[in-house]
Amino acid sequence: MTAQIEDWQVIVIGGGIAGASVAAELADLGARVVLLEREAQPGYHTTGRSAALFTIAYGPPVIRALSRASAAAFQAPGDAMRPHPLLRPRGAVFLARPDQRATLEALETELGASVKPLGQAALRDMLPLLRPDYCAAGLIDRQAADIDVDALHHQYLRRLAASGGELRCGAEVLALQRDGGGWRVETPGGALRAEIVVNAAGAWADELAGKADVAPVGLMPKRRTALLVAPPEGAAHDSWPMAVDVDERFYLKPDAGKLLISPADETPSPPCDAQPEELDVAVCIDRIQRAFDLPVRRIEHKWAGLRSFVADKCPVAGYAPDAPGFFWLAGQGGYGIQSAPALARFAAALALDRAPPADVTDEGVGAAALAPGRRALAA
Ligand SMILES: Cc1cc2nc3c(=O)[nH]c(=O)nc-3n(C[C@H](O)[C@H](O)[C@H](O)COP(=O)(O)OP(=O)(O)OC[C@H]3O[C@@H](n4cnc5c(N)ncnc54)[C@H](O)[C@@H]3O)c2cc1C
Repeated sequence: MTAQIEDWQVIVIGGGIAGASVAAELADLGARVVLLEREAQPGYHTTGRSAALFTIAYGPPVIRALSRASAAAFQAPGDAMRPHPLLRPRGAVFLARPDQRATLEALETELGASVKPLGQAALRDMLPLLRPDYCAAGLIDRQAADIDVDALHHQYLRRLAASGGELRCGAEVLALQRDGGGWRVETPGGALRAEIVVNAAGAWADELAGKADVAPVGLMPKRRTALLVAPPEGAAHDSWPMAVDVDERFYLKPDAGKLLISPADETPSPPCDAQPEELDVAVCIDRIQRAFDLPVRRIEHKWAGLRSFVADKCPVAGYAPDAPGFFWLAGQGGYGIQSAPALARFAAALALDRAPPADVTDEGVGAAALAPGRRALAA
């Protein structure tokens, strides 16, 4: 007896924010979509490990454009799929020591009206733990906000289900091969077939392409470490903005009654279940304590996640030039949550050969800048 093969129109591989968001958008456009996730829970890897910030003042121009085009989705009022707001005002302050003034000035020129300069007194008011001699100047992005990542992710998964799509966890894609005009995918639970596969496998996206004999895009997963520590007794820390070193050598952010601190490390790593290294933890505390009067008596929680980049640090979204029906959605780096709403709508339209959303193209995002075959990715 031959085993049954399930037929779908689109198989999305990877249940993080990229896979969940594009699967929901594809299903909304009428496609029959199944979302396959290897782990028991979607969001177990990078999506569940982020610093959860939305800011249009971060990342390369394409990311800023995608983030601007995502703002409306983040600000939309709640509905049955998601009763609570997705954003909570936070603000983000870039800090510069005297020797970093030129970098801060260059950033101010680049970011224009989205940031405002802050003097010493304002900096100390906003960030009372800042050491008096540490910082010479700052810039604030007042629009920066905390994202409820879990709510965003689950909103997409609910939308997928409401449009007739399915999420399958514990469904690792073990093999992937051309099958007539489409693709055949092997999982521990059986084989599936579809016209289109979407590679949203995060740090594993190149590895997954390898299973399909598709050329890699040169993805570089980079480990980033984060710690939760207690704020000083009695400090009104919840109202503090996020504080980011202008050269991105550390950041500090209030997080659910604690302070999230990071050395903003970017250590190349193979795709894996990333864990924090003791050296990065020590570097984190050292860098934070140079800038802030923050005694660290106990680390309450620590973790690491992989931020995956291609050479030009822009996401990859589009059909593989060497494999019809194989669609890339990878390389979102350190900005994959805040850019997900617009990137998912754009990618879903490209994948189904529809016109790209006008609000996204109006921000200056074009298919060529995201294409997997773009020149910047050539080896
Ligand atoms: C410390 C840290 C801070 C960050 N801060 C921010 C921030 O403030 N704002 C922001 O916007 N972004 C931030 N990011 C980046 C953001 O988290 C990522 O860009 C985003 O989560 C990437 O989502 P993804 O779905 O591509 O990857 P993932 O969430 O890793 O999902 C990929 C999924 O694919 C699955 N998979 C892989 N191979 C297979 C297979 N063969 N079969 C089935 N499933 C498979 C994996 O199990 C995984 O669940 C941060 C990241 C880190 C680590």
